[in-house]
Amino acid sequence: MSEKLILATNNVHKVAEIKAILGARYDMVTLKEAGIHIDIEETGSTFAENAVIKASAITRIAGGAALADDSGLVVEALNGEPGVYSARYAGEGHNDSDNIDKLLNNLRGIKNRKAKFVSAIALCRPDGKTIVAQGEAEGIILNERRGEGGFGYDPVFFSTELNKTFAEATFEEKNAVSHRKRALESLAELLSKKA
Ligand code: IMP
Repeated sequence: MSEKLILATNNVHKVAEIKAILGARYDMVTLKEAGIHIDIEETGSTFAENAVIKASAITRIAGGAALADDSGLVVEALNGEPGVYSARYAGEGHNDSDNIDKLLNNLRGIKNRKAKFVSAIALCRPDGKTIVAQGEAEGIILNERRGEGGFGYDPVFFSTELNKTFAEATFEEKNAVSHRKRALESLAELLSKKA
């Protein structure tokens, strides 16, 4: 029987990506489906810290295994910004488009456009065992948006592996090279070693 996992997110894009990669191995339910309505503050200074904070909080509340991811965009010329602040880069109450506008403004006139998406995934079990894995996807930040798909910074993130932005890529194309896929695969490998 597959192991039951509560996904510590309600982000439909992330849930779809996680299910596409690990759905066959685990019986996954979202926070909503598990009837848990809480907002966990991401107080960590790294993606891994935040993933562990979220997964362990859900495990404590639900009493079962939980999987949480924390992810974001790391831009070389901006000393790693927006980093763990990716979701709220333009401030609380602002949306993805405002975040992109702020990023493009901050990069105006800067030649070095190197960036990467980073995802840290933590799996916490009720016995206190925690496994953390990380994955990255490399690219450059364009000067303007391209494509309609995806979410977040996808329209300005040009994947050097796909030769298109994540917003121009199909769901399958993005999933083949995404930071979350790589973190999830690394997690699956760690799990099979420890099982
Ligand atoms: P989290 O929900 O705390 O992990 O915040 C992640 C934020 O990073 C999102 O709100 C997006 O702004 C950005 N982000 C993470 N992964 C992606 C992605 O695959 N595409 C575009 N933006 C992403």
